[in-house]
Amino acid sequence: MEHIDLRSDTVTSPSPGMRQAMAAAPVGDDQYGEDPSVNRLQERIADLLGKQSALFVPSGTMANQIGLKILTRPGDEVVVGEEAHVVWHESGAAAANSGVQFAVVGRGGLFTASDLRAAYKPPGHIVFPPTTLAAVENTHNRGGGVVFPQQDAVAVCATARELGLASYLDGARLFNAAAATGRPLTELAAPFDLVAVALSKGLGCPVGSLIAGGTDEIARARRARRMFGGAMRQSGILAAAGLFALEHNLERLVEDHANARLLADRLAGLRGVSLDLATVQSNIVIFQMTEDGPDAATIVARAQEAGVLLSAFGVRTVRAVTHLDVTRDQCRRAADLLAAVIEHR
Ligand SMILES: *Cc1c(COP(=O)(O)O)cnc(C)c1O
Repeated sequence: MEHIDLRSDTVTSPSPGMRQAMAAAPVGDDQYGEDPSVNRLQERIADLLGKQSALFVPSGTMANQIGLKILTRPGDEVVVGEEAHVVWHESGAAAANSGVQFAVVGRGGLFTASDLRAAYKPPGHIVFPPTTLAAVENTHNRGGGVVFPQQDAVAVCATARELGLASYLDGARLFNAAAATGRPLTELAAPFDLVAVALSKGLGCPVGSLIAGGTDEIARARRARRMFGGAMRQSGILAAAGLFALEHNLERLVEDHANARLLADRLAGLRGVSLDLATVQSNIVIFQMTEDGPDAATIVARAQEAGVLLSAFGVRTVRAVTHLDVTRDQCRRAADLLAAVIEHR
């Protein structure tokens, strides 16, 4: 059976056009700075984000780990929203690689400047770990793909600067935030010292993320990338997929958002499902199975039998993600199948 795969927007396969672009890419040794495709992609992303410079890295996790590495020192504290990717999905890397700890603030992945101020611990205190970084995630994965309100991003970064902290944006899905709000990427990126974006999520590339910021930060990021083993050679093959995706797959993200909305509207009406439609702002739908019914693992298993793949994100939490390899018709069909699975009991 051909499953409708809504586990993640990372499950997409490169399209024939993307594969052609990859095959035809001019390449060179990127560690000598000689890969024209990588150089073009880095310039393009720096430009799109309004930053001086950008660096191509193998994964979003590595982008985040490089950001933490160059903006903190061991023993520092990093302020993040609830269920941040750096806390939940990076295998403990922040503690292992950079020796930092997290202060989790706010609600549902979002937080305000006053949350940051309340959590802030100054340097030089006899017992406190010094807060040196504020890290925002936009859109917020475990928060259900919610957009970080721009006025809060601006205020958080202004407060960070006032307190002497650095600011970092995990924008693995920043392209979705731009599509959801209609705000330019430059505006979303502007408040932050360093910004990461992923090619392997909604843009449908097989591999890659970029980290963008000032020339000095990116020079330090280049060294950290080498230290983490992420410096590559003829990686223009991969960068070409990114250049292709920026041309062809950026504008269409709104379709994924409309498909997620269609799915969410249907799921929210089902008995045994608790779904806050206000959180459905982009391509992610996160819902809870109520206590009186089957748990997330049961629903995921039954959905798989019915032909729909989902992720269990908690004991009663389920995630569905739309992407360029699922059509509107498939999402409609998935909604029908899930309704049958969930209401059948
Ligand atoms: C997917 C994701 C990443 C990066 O994940 P990789 O699998 O390492 O590319 C980082 N941050 C967020 C919010 C993500 O959703």
